[in-house]
Amino acid sequence: MSSSAPLPDLDRLCIHTITTKSWDVETAAKKFSAAGVKGITVWRDAYAGRDITATGQMLRDEGLSIVSTCRGGFFPGATDADRQAAIDDNRRAIEEAHQLGAPLVVLVCGAVPGQPLVESRQQILDGIAAVLPDCEATGVKLGIEPLHPMYADSRSAVNTLGQANDMCEQLKSSHVGVAADVYHLWWDPALETEIARCGKLGALFSFHVCDWRSPTIDFLNDRGLMGEGVIDIRQIRGWVEAAGFKGFNEVEVFSNRLWAMDQDEYLKLIIESYYQHT
Ligand code: ZN
Repeated sequence: MSSSAPLPDLDRLCIHTITTKSWDVETAAKKFSAAGVKGITVWRDAYAGRDITATGQMLRDEGLSIVSTCRGGFFPGATDADRQAAIDDNRRAIEEAHQLGAPLVVLVCGAVPGQPLVESRQQILDGIAAVLPDCEATGVKLGIEPLHPMYADSRSAVNTLGQANDMCEQLKSSHVGVAADVYHLWWDPALETEIARCGKLGALFSFHVCDWRSPTIDFLNDRGLMGEGVIDIRQIRGWVEAAGFKGFNEVEVFSNRLWAMDQDEYLKLIIESYYQHT
């Protein structure tokens, strides 16, 4: 395995709440903090039904940086009413991030089965443009997360970093950038050049890590921990850092297999695989 970047810094380890989803946000905060983790990305279900402002304070009191919330997006819709409902939901997501004290909302942009991808991409651009005033009012930014093309039918019509960069150029807003996730992007022959381009645009907002297991038995919930699959994560981190990225390395793993294990043991594995394979 090539190692184009130095060993990762524990101070830059962030874990998504969904990675250890059986822990509620209070438990996750205590466990992450005790293990020396410094960042947390909070999925919206993790603060549902809670006082969001107080939850944000609780996280900061545990010494955690709130890196982002997941997720907004799903802008395309078959009807005007569907698209408006998505815009309303994204406005809520931005307000929630503001209350929590998160600087960024990650966008899974959306797609409608049967609707041409070009149409969905235009609806995504229009949807983001419609919520930009909320970003400007609150300071909360949006990170377009390109998804692996296997999700182009129903989850995202944005499938490469090149497309996400194009959208950033079209939207021309300092509030819109990219969430780059190795699971979605590792296969792309243009990845190194598009990461460099994203850095030049000032749009490289976040970096998500996990691994692609071979074989993968479930295309949603069989992600691997870093080192369990085929992605040269350290090489990609090297490209991201060469592009000027100084943010957190965010461990985002959906895995029925890993969710089923003892979560304290799992957290130890996360930290070990972070050092060895990130
Ligand atoms: Zn991600």
